[in-house]
Amino acid sequence: MKKIEDLNMEGKKVLIRCDFNVPIKNGRIIDDTRIKESLKTIHYCIDHHAKIILFSHLGRIKEEEDLKKNTLLPVSKRLSKLLDKKVIFIEETRGKKLEKAIEELQEGEIILVQNTRYEDLDGKKESNNDEELGKYWASLGDLFINDAFGTIHRSHASNVGIASHIESATGFLVEKELNVLSSLNSCEKPFIVILGGAKINDKIGVIEKLVTKADYILIGGGMAFTFLQSEGYNVGASIVDYDRIDFCTKILKKYSSKILLPVDVNVTTEYNNDSLNKVKEITEIAENEMGLDIGDRTIEIYQNYLKDAKTVLWNGPLGVYEFEKYKNGTKKIMKFLVDHNIRTILGGGDIVAAASLMKMKDKVYHASTGGGATLEYLEEKKLPGLEIIK
Ligand code: AMP
Repeated sequence: MKKIEDLNMEGKKVLIRCDFNVPIKNGRIIDDTRIKESLKTIHYCIDHHAKIILFSHLGRIKEEEDLKKNTLLPVSKRLSKLLDKKVIFIEETRGKKLEKAIEELQEGEIILVQNTRYEDLDGKKESNNDEELGKYWASLGDLFINDAFGTIHRSHASNVGIASHIESATGFLVEKELNVLSSLNSCEKPFIVILGGAKINDKIGVIEKLVTKADYILIGGGMAFTFLQSEGYNVGASIVDYDRIDFCTKILKKYSSKILLPVDVNVTTEYNNDSLNKVKEITEIAENEMGLDIGDRTIEIYQNYLKDAKTVLWNGPLGVYEFEKYKNGTKKIMKFLVDHNIRTILGGGDIVAAASLMKMKDKVYHASTGGGATLEYLEEKKLPGLEIIK
C-alpha cells in the first residue's frame, strides 16, 4: 500500500481527504483535535511544494437547514490559525469558482473545499459514492492522500471515489492509527479489553475476535445488562438487547473465566441527572430501576485486574458519563490507567469524548480519531478506504 512518502508531489495538485468532523456549537469549534491531527500531513505537503486541496465532511446533511450549521468555514479559520498560513475556503463542492481557484493555486498554497456532504442533499452523492462525483473530484488533482481514519470504513465519493481514479496513498494520521491497532496483534501481555457503551449490537464482532486475543474482557455500560440478563439476573429497567441474549449466553459459557461482568451498579428510576440514585448489588435491582454506571466494588475488582495489564484497549464508556452522577466508573478506571502508566488505547467515539471531558485524553498512549473504523478494523473487516489504495 502506497504511503505519503512514496508520492512525488513537487508542483502537483494534491487532494487530501482529511477528517475535520469536529464538534461545533453556535459556530464555535469545541474540540479541534481532529484538525490538529491532520497538520503533519498538510505540513509535509507544504514542505514538498505541493498545491494542496483539502476535502472533509462535517456532520450530516439531510435537509437545507443542515447546510448552514455544517459549513466548514469555522474549520478553515481554525486551520489557518494552526498553520499560521492563509487557507482559501471555497464555499462550494464543485463548479467554476472551485476550478478557477485550483487553476490559480501556487505551490505550498492551500484550498479547503466546502463540506463534501453538501452533495448528499442531492441524492446522497457523497455518501453513496456517486461515480460521477468521485470522477469529477479526482479530475481536480494529480494525486490523492486519504488521511481521514474516521471514515476509512466507509465507501464515499471523497475517499473511495477519488482514489479509484488517481494515484493514491495514505497520510500520516491513517498510518499512525493503523500502526497502533496492528500492534495489538503482538502486544505485551496481559492484554485487557474494556468494553462499554449503550449498544452491544455493534460490538459483537469485536468481542468474538478479541476474546481469543485478550487475557480478559471487562464489561460495563449499558451492554453489561444484556450479559447480566442472559445470566438470569433481574436487571429492571436497564437497557437490554433481547436479540443478543443468546450470543451472550454462548460466549459467557465458552469464556467464563475471561469475560467479567459488574457485581454492583449505580441505579436510578429516571434517565436524567436529577432523580435519586443508589449503588446496588446486581442481585438487588428493582423492576423500575435502571443501571447507569458500574458500582465501587466493580471498579475495585476491575482495577485489580488492570493493575498487572501491559496493554489495554478500551471502547465505550462504563456509564452514562454525560451525566455527572454516572461518570464515576469511567473516570476512576481512566485515572487508574493513567496513574499506573498502563499503555492504553482508546478506540474512538464516546470514550475519547469522555477522556477529553475528564482532561485525561492527552495522558493516554493513544486516543483514536475513529470509533466505527477502529471497531471494523478489530473485527478484521475490509476497510474500503484502504482497500482501494492497496
Ligand atoms: P456506544 O455508541 O454504544 O459506545 O454508546 C455510548 C453511549 O453509551 C454513551 O452516550 C453513554 O451515555 C451510553 N451508556 C453508557 N452506559 C450506559 C448505561 N448503563 N445505560 C445506558 N446508556 C449507557
